[in-house]
Amino acid sequence: MGKGKTFKGGIHPPGHKELTNSKSIRRMSPPEEVVVLMQQHIGAACQPLVKRRDVVNKGQKIGDSDGAISAPVHASVSGVVKAVESWVHPNGYKVQAVVIENDGEERLDPDIVPAGDLESLDKGTIVDLIREAGIVGLGGAAFPTHVKLSPPPHKKIHTLIINGCECEPYLTCDHRVMVEQPEKVVYGTRALLRALGINKAFIGIEANKPDAITAMEKATAPYADIQVVPLQIKYPQGAEKQLVTAITGQVVPEGCLPMDCGIVVNNVGTAAAVAASLKTGMPLIERVITVSGEGVKEPQNLLVPVGAKLSDVLQVSQGFNGTPRKVIMGGPMTGVTQFDLSVPVVKGTPGIVVFNDLKTATKPEACIRCGRCVDACPAFLVPVNIVQYVDGGQLDAAVEWGLLNCIECGSCSYVCPANRFLVQSILLGKQEVQAARNKQTS
Ligand code: SF4
Ligand code: SF4
Repeated sequence: MGKGKTFKGGIHPPGHKELTNSKSIRRMSPPEEVVVLMQQHIGAACQPLVKRRDVVNKGQKIGDSDGAISAPVHASVSGVVKAVESWVHPNGYKVQAVVIENDGEERLDPDIVPAGDLESLDKGTIVDLIREAGIVGLGGAAFPTHVKLSPPPHKKIHTLIINGCECEPYLTCDHRVMVEQPEKVVYGTRALLRALGINKAFIGIEANKPDAITAMEKATAPYADIQVVPLQIKYPQGAEKQLVTAITGQVVPEGCLPMDCGIVVNNVGTAAAVAASLKTGMPLIERVITVSGEGVKEPQNLLVPVGAKLSDVLQVSQGFNGTPRKVIMGGPMTGVTQFDLSVPVVKGTPGIVVFNDLKTATKPEACIRCGRCVDACPAFLVPVNIVQYVDGGQLDAAVEWGLLNCIECGSCSYVCPANRFLVQSILLGKQEVQAARNKQTS
């Protein structure tokens, strides 16, 4: 499956990247209305800073939180606040949202000013600017970036890894960012290195993106502290722990984070967002997403305002191609199926994929003890046993077998010849364990 470093386990689903990987990023015209959710990230939800009928500027902060793990949110258009109300999040639950009627004036907030030369900014200033810009991980996890850049003093960071794998089928937004904006990715990488106070960065890119590898090698050439690392094509190559192993050979122990091994991982889109915000002062109010799948008429890569509704984005892609059977926010392996097209794009939305036919059989059969799920698991788990314990209500035993170390990649379900709902049972088991723990502490 190609040259380059990799990790043990994993699968090789068809990539379907050809639908969009050569298509340049197009800017979507801002829609008439955007819905900016107050929960766009892992951690505490923001509280709205505006109320109905307030006039807001593009880039104005409209939500913030005192929580240690959180990130502010900003208006992606100028206009009038139509409502502050509850709205459905792509993950299915309801959160508060600020609905803005776009006045089309593109009136910029006066607080938006460039940060100045990177060399003139110290560590703390860069971290503060990144927080104020509301930057979170754009690979999908949406973890606040400033928190990753502020490790506890006893955790000595020595290496930054920039994740350009984009191993999820169909998605090509990171690929296009690297091809079209390599200098931005490098600038952001340098800013992240400066914020961490270190001088070693790797940019990991799967070998199915040769043009991105070439562009990034050229852009990083003047910087000896940044190295591009071609990686094998394998899913989930872009999962944090698997990426750390592929690039450094280090295995992040169970229950630990890359930070515990001295490593911080950020996505290429995040690096580009850091660069954009430091250079222009504009917070994170738009992102590149891939709209793809046989169910859309015009698959493409789009620069979309945060808060644009799924229906508006699909319209820009000329709408459905036939009768849609499944609309997924994110990719087919880790994305979330949507039932309401008024759901808005959030900072962590890497794509929208539409399928017409669901070709895979979904009727589960008895396990034939083939062991394929064990071979595929990149977290070295025995999914078949964990699921057996979860299904039997023996959660303690499931935890002992590593339930909580599952990275929810879905590789086990993908390879199971008996079509067993492995990752689904595991997710359920994790939720039950969390609920039991919450009950104990309340
Ligand atoms: S058990 Fe979890 S980590 Fe292992 S393959 Fe299944 S979903 Fe992925
Ligand atoms: S892959 Fe499916 S059939 Fe094979 S051992 Fe795992 S659960 Fe059983």
